[in-house]
Amino acid sequence: MSQRKIIALTAPSGSGKTTLARRVLEAFPEMRFSVSVTTRPPRPGEKDGVHYHFISEEDFRRRIAAGDLLEYEEVYPGRFYGTLVSEVREATREHPVLLDIDVKGAENVKRIFGDDALVVFIRPPSLEVLAERLRRRNTESEETLRHRLERAAHELAYADRFDAVVVNDDLDRATEETIRLIRSFLER
Ligand code: 5GP
Repeated sequence: MSQRKIIALTAPSGSGKTTLARRVLEAFPEMRFSVSVTTRPPRPGEKDGVHYHFISEEDFRRRIAAGDLLEYEEVYPGRFYGTLVSEVREATREHPVLLDIDVKGAENVKRIFGDDALVVFIRPPSLEVLAERLRRRNTESEETLRHRLERAAHELAYADRFDAVVVNDDLDRATEETIRLIRSFLER
């Protein structure tokens, strides 16, 4: 029996997933966060090697060719994101690994790891709330905001393909529900 334990949180951008991920990591100190590689530039406050490994597109392609990526997606036009094999290889029951990835990546993770993975879809209460949150975050231009919202509308259709759906209507409640789901997955 495999002891590998991988947890993926997936959601349309702006669903509060990143905050949730941080809280999950606080609740499970033994859990490690899988730091992805990305070609998008860092946002203010983001640290290389902590939030992402920020790399060039050329480097990204080299990583693909070298077989370093478990999965990768062009999440937005010209913006590549990928999970490093090295980040999930050591995932165990004692040290589970948490992934914060897009819905296509999450589908791939489920396909690769099956019952060793718990994929939780975080759903915003509505597209309107999502648009509002993204605007307030103020990290996007109108164009990337539009891309993100178009993609979110599409991604909501994926919700029922995953192990669980958590509606992020209230962050505290959603966090508790997510933690409960993860705890029972880890004990299984
Ligand atoms: P952001 O630019 O807001 O940090 O992330 C955009 C989207 O890319 C989010 O949905 C995030 O979960 C996703 N993402 C981050 N890392 C990865 C990854 O390694 N693989 C995939 N498929 N998606 C990722």
